Order: sequence, then C-alpha cells, then structure tokens
Amino acid sequence: MFGQGGIGIVRISGDAARGLMERFFHPRRPVVGLDSHRFYYGVFGPSAQDPIDEVMAVFMQAPHSYTREDVVEIHCHGSAVVGRRVIEALVGAGCRLAHPGEFTLRAFLNGRIDLSQAEGVMELINSHSLLGQRQALRHLQGALGLRCQGLREALCQALAVVEAWIDFPEEDLDSESETRIHGLVGDALAQIEGLVASFQAGRILREGVAVLILGRPNVGKSSLLNALLGSDRAIVTDLPGTTRDTLEEHMDLGGLRVRFIDSAGLRQSCDPIEQEGVRRSRAKISEADLILFLVDGHQGLTAEDLDTYALCDPAKVFLVSNKCDLGLKPLDEKLPAAAFVHLSARTGQGLEELRAAIRGFFLDQSSLAGEEELYVTEERHRDCLQRCAASLRRALEAHEGGLSLEFVALELRQGLDHLGEITGETAPDEIINRIFSQFCIGK
Ligand code: GDP
Ligand code: ZN
Repeated sequence: MFGQGGIGIVRISGDAARGLMERFFHPRRPVVGLDSHRFYYGVFGPSAQDPIDEVMAVFMQAPHSYTREDVVEIHCHGSAVVGRRVIEALVGAGCRLAHPGEFTLRAFLNGRIDLSQAEGVMELINSHSLLGQRQALRHLQGALGLRCQGLREALCQALAVVEAWIDFPEEDLDSESETRIHGLVGDALAQIEGLVASFQAGRILREGVAVLILGRPNVGKSSLLNALLGSDRAIVTDLPGTTRDTLEEHMDLGGLRVRFIDSAGLRQSCDPIEQEGVRRSRAKISEADLILFLVDGHQGLTAEDLDTYALCDPAKVFLVSNKCDLGLKPLDEKLPAAAFVHLSARTGQGLEELRAAIRGFFLDQSSLAGEEELYVTEERHRDCLQRCAASLRRALEAHEGGLSLEFVALELRQGLDHLGEITGETAPDEIINRIFSQFCIGK
C-alpha cells in the first residue's frame, strides 16, 4: 500500500534483497560492499544516470531484521508515482508483492516473535489511546508469551510427575507427588483465572468505553458534549428536540478512549423523526458503559426526568445537573442534590470534576491502577485461557475423584495445547492465516 506522505518505504525481504539493492541503488559516494544496518544516501533506478528518485537505503543482514531474512528498505519520497515506479522496477527484477501481514508472518514463522506478539503489532497499529497503546506495546514485546511460557513450564512439571506414576499402575501416588501436582496445577489455574478476569479491563484499554449523554431536550446535552470536546461539533439551539439523531465523538480522556454519544431525548412524541430517535436512545441506554444523566439544574427535576431515569441501571449512571451558572433550584428528594455533579456547560465550571469522575469510574471499576499489570486484550487469548482453565479444573477433579491418572494427564496435555495456541506453537493454520489476513499490506 503506497499512499501519499513525506516518505514512503519500500521493503524487500529474502535472499535476493541484497543483490537488488546493489543493482538498483547507486550511492552518492562509492562504497565497497554494503554494511549492515547503515543508511546510505543516493539514487534508486536502473542506473545512476536514470534515477527514479533520490533515496536513503539500508540493508539489514539476516538474522538481525524484522523477518530474520535479509531485508532492504528504500526510503523514497512519499508519492504514489514514485512508489509505483520503484515497486515496478523491483517486480521486473523478480520480486513479488507481499501479502497482507507477510513480513510479520515471516517474523513469526522464522521464530523471531510468537503469535501473541504478532497480534500485538496489529493492536499497536490500531491503538487509539495512550493506555491502549502502552498495553499493545507490552504485547508486542512478548509479555503475554512470557507469562504463558512460565505457565507451560509449571504444567509440564506436573505432567512429568503424573506420567512417572502412570508407569507404576500398581502403586498409589505418594503424598509428596500429590502435593506437588496440586500445587503446580492449582497455582497455574489461579494465574490463568486472573488473566481471564483482566480481559474486562483489557477490553476497556483496547477499545475504550461508550458514554451516553442522556436527558430531556434542552437540558444542554449537545452543549455538554461540545464542552467536553472543546469544539462546536454538535448542534445547539434553543428549540427543544433539535438533536434528532445520535451524535458520536471520540476523545482521549487522560489516556482512556471514550466514545461520547449525544442522544435525542426520550420524550414521547408523535413526530416520526423524533420517534425514531427515541427508539435509538433506548438501544443506546443498554449499550452504554456509562450514562451521564443530565438535568437542567436551574429548572429542577421534572416528571419526565424521573421517567427517563427509571429506564437506566443506577449502577452505571452519573447524575449531572447542568446550567449551574443560572443558579440552582432544589432537586427532588428522590434524587437528592448531593448525588449530582453540578456543572455549567456554558462556563465550563465543574467540567474537570466530571472528566476526572468519568475516568475514575472506569479505571477504579476495572482496577486498572497498575500500568505494569498485564491485561488480556484479545478475545482469542481470553478464549484460549478459558479453555485451558477448564482443562485444569477437570484435571484436578479427575484426580480428586480418584479417576485414573491417565485422565489427569490427558487434561493437562489439553491445557498445554490451549496455552500453546496463544503463542502459536499449537495454533491451527487457519487461525494463523486468519490473524495475518487482518494485517495491512507492507506490515
Ligand atoms: P440539548 O437539547 O439537551 O442538546 O440542549 P442544548 O445543548 O441544545 O442546549 C439548550 C439550550 O440551553 C441552549 O440555548 C444552550 O445554550 C443552553 N445551555 C446549555 N448549557 C447551558 C449552561 O450551562 N448554562 C446556560 N445558561 N445555558 C446553557
Ligand atoms: Zn442537543
């Protein structure tokens, strides 16, 4: 894929890479042999007299490259025409275009990275927020693979003990081996359960959260959205019911990716357009991770406010009273004033408190405090871990239920396989193909 940009990079991987660089790259100053990992300045083209572009070029000798093969990178100007001509010259000389993700696939097949790291590459490319980006980098650097490796070692030890006893069917396990098996498998199971539980927070890191701004027409939903975003993206008017459609905006709230949704009010109406908006609001209520339930603090609570509030799950509602610049009317005793965050979308008063509260709601709830913590962010990894945990539980049950050690060994081996799927040792080809097909070309 070659779009427009300041610089465009054409990458070649494989045995022929070096020869192609020697043939098409003409350094400004003559060189004797190419040093690995050294940037050269010159022109790219069939000959120095017939250049396609002025470029920087680098040769990376195997195995010290992204793919572990010989790699050449041509850094040319980021024009689609330049890119096409460079690629055409190389294809004419015997290169073929890479499939999506093929460089990373080779890095995986050549053992430079494991499958979870390859997925980390994708995760990093697609990350939207600071926290998500940092977690993706940890995956790219192999943190999950390393954890799996430790778990595998423990399970292999347990399996070795079990298998040693299988060879002596007439004897019962001694208590030392018994304790050892239980300790190893029990510890591994607890760790895996912890990783599975981290997925909820991991999903928040990776995908962010959805926050719905809900309230009657004219309480200031669009104004609040604009104030949070610091722009005039949503339409604000004095006529109730202006925001017909739901309007969505993303922002990075202190490292957390938040999707704010401004909904049309839930007011009953005969206006067909507005009724459609109402239907969507109801759907959004159930989808949202958090609801900012907005009321007009100057006007006070109305029956309609209370009806709408009744549709929400109180555990995921923030009560927000807007227009505090106009002075406050006492709120209903059903929803005491103390329960509200008071703010003014117009003056910005109270906005920082609201931002902090939103961030705190998600980060505390999901115990995202420790950034050094490892989170499972990939559904595939969570599923493998869950299947592994199920096998380990069955292994312990089989053993406690006095079943033959063969059963225990079988479950342990299955547990090991599920762990191996995360790092790719035991992942079926179709899973590997599916993962790499989601990559962009050139990565
Ligand atoms: P929505 O229908 O809930 O989206 O409400 P809007 O954001 O369109 O606002 C309705 C009206 O209330 C507009 O005239 C806004 O300027 C006004 N408004 C919104 N927030 C405040 C506020 O904090 N203070 C004051 N005084 N007016 C506000
Ligand atoms: Zn609005």
